[in-house]
Amino acid sequence: MFALVDVNNFYVSCQRVFEPRLEGKPVVVLSNNDGCAVSRSNEVKALGIAMAKPWHQMREVAEQHGIIAYSSNYALYADMSNRVMSILRRFSPDQEIYSIDECFLGLDAIGRDHTELGMEIRQTVQKWTGLPVCIGIAPTKTLAKLCNHLAKKHSRFAGVCEWAKLDQATQQRVMQEVTIGEIWGVGRRLSVKLNEDGIFTVADLMKADPETIRMRYSVVLQRTVMELRGQPCIDLEDVAPDKQQILCSRSFGQLVYSEHELAEAVSTYVARAAEKLRRQQSAAGALAVFIRTNPNREKDPQYSKHVLVPLSQPSDDTLQLTKAALWVLKRIYKPGYAYAKAGVMLLELQPNTGIQGHLFLESADPIKRANLNETMDKINRQWGRGTLRLASAGFNHGWKMRQNNLSPCWTTKWADLPVAGG
Ligand SMILES: [Mg+2]
Repeated sequence: MFALVDVNNFYVSCQRVFEPRLEGKPVVVLSNNDGCAVSRSNEVKALGIAMAKPWHQMREVAEQHGIIAYSSNYALYADMSNRVMSILRRFSPDQEIYSIDECFLGLDAIGRDHTELGMEIRQTVQKWTGLPVCIGIAPTKTLAKLCNHLAKKHSRFAGVCEWAKLDQATQQRVMQEVTIGEIWGVGRRLSVKLNEDGIFTVADLMKADPETIRMRYSVVLQRTVMELRGQPCIDLEDVAPDKQQILCSRSFGQLVYSEHELAEAVSTYVARAAEKLRRQQSAAGALAVFIRTNPNREKDPQYSKHVLVPLSQPSDDTLQLTKAALWVLKRIYKPGYAYAKAGVMLLELQPNTGIQGHLFLESADPIKRANLNETMDKINRQWGRGTLRLASAGFNHGWKMRQNNLSPCWTTKWADLPVAGG
């Protein structure tokens, strides 16, 4: 038996925890560079504003209805996510963190009534973090997802929907009402194809012959059919697999022309990627850098280049990786273009054990270097990202993301700590 716990309108809800005045008001959180809506409060959804709607297109509606917009505050969301996940861990030893605001729990080892347990989870998360969650409970992960969808949609479930507690007539009706686009793992493109084959609802897909589905579509969709019929095919993944590649890329807040500024951005991205690399105790065997102009500015001359270089030794050293990345940048940079985005990717990741002893490492003493990186990570963890950085990462950062409506980092910065009373 599985439970899927999902925070409602996660980013918006995080903002509301620290600013209760936002309760009941239409609120959106915008993507990087304040581009489009990535989280919407129910009030905003009710206004018919779709996910990923560009902010500049909803300015007018926003003014009319007093929509309050925030820049994404990932430091806040990541911290709130950790709090929710550690609370959920108390309720079941079997936990799979599926995304920043979603988590599967295995309930097989838990003897009590599952709906009651769900209610208690919900109340605890609400009380301890201030965040509202909905919970779907079912014999398969796919059905648990579906139940979560129902719990969100229908207030009569009071936030917890358990498949086994629905009578058969209700189960049937739900299957006929919910469209396949809502099913876990069925994306938009697949929906279109299924529609062409006359499959529109969950009920249609359940009735389809699994073997035919496998041949016509994929073994993955066949599993989905089995799961909808109540046969578990997808198990919990207890340990999130280590990333096979690490990408750090951003669109710039303003166009960038000089190599110097691109180098600042690339250095900053390498530092972030290398930090992630060390956190999962990997080393990179190759590194790629890309830079590009904005293809939407059709009148501008366009340029885009992506170059991958193998490293002579796998490395997790910020200094070495930065050196390699800037070497690549020097070769791909062309003056005269308005650059809109750059990125760094670390590839051919491998465990970093045993690579420190190489005799001919070109860098300084590898042990000293490892200590330096470790110290840098510690300082940056405690004092905030980028507190200690290479000079090549620069100071001005005119290229940084636009975040005009960024809220304070209430839970991760001492200076932003909220003050109660008065
Ligand atoms: Mg959610």
